Amino acid sequence: MMTNLIEEAQRALIIGAHPDDSEFSCGGTIAKLGQQGWDVTYVVCTNGNKGSHDPAITAYRLSEIREAEQRAAAAVLGVQRIIFLRYNDGELEPTPALRAEMALYIRYFKPNALFTHDPWKHYMLHPDHRAVGFAVIEGAVSARDHLYMPGLGQIGLTVWRPQALYLWAAEQPDYTEDISATLELKLAALREHHSQIDHVEGWEQRVRQRAREQGQAAGYEAGEAFKKISL
Ligand SMILES: [Zn+2]
Repeated sequence: MMTNLIEEAQRALIIGAHPDDSEFSCGGTIAKLGQQGWDVTYVVCTNGNKGSHDPAITAYRLSEIREAEQRAAAAVLGVQRIIFLRYNDGELEPTPALRAEMALYIRYFKPNALFTHDPWKHYMLHPDHRAVGFAVIEGAVSARDHLYMPGLGQIGLTVWRPQALYLWAAEQPDYTEDISATLELKLAALREHHSQIDHVEGWEQRVRQRAREQGQAAGYEAGEAFKKISL
């Protein structure tokens, strides 16, 4: 539990279902990676175009707002690039096509650390979180074995095996990253998601509380907990 993710600067790939998932779940860890010189890439699978209770907003307008918010939040954390897949919110399924797409990004960016949703989390309501979690995990298998998608190998996207997969909002977390020094950056990034948090009373206190609880188990002032799977 006391080990540290960061040994030397490497590459991380963070794959989330919606604009804001990455910041809520591992913004402190991402900020830390950025400070340590890691090359960090986001893949944001949906455009978040259903994430509003405002009866006046259209799905199209919301997708534009959320993409801009995602860019601003990622800039706070030092993320180098964002790939927007722009699938419609709430409509993702862990199809072979989505799995292949995830494998393609894993082979292309060659991450040492791969982060995504834990699809086995009990009572998780959002279907996109499950779909992305499964597609990334299954995509990691396709990415590492050369007989999957042989055409990718023939255009130079040869096999790649991340050292570890980190599942956030984990059913059974067994690894905690110390984010005591980057919790404020996480909150600053979250504040960029105006459409998601401006109307939510007490969100900041809840994020602080969760960081305290997750850190406590590992002896940190603040932490982010994951299920870590070595590949
Ligand atoms: Zn989400």
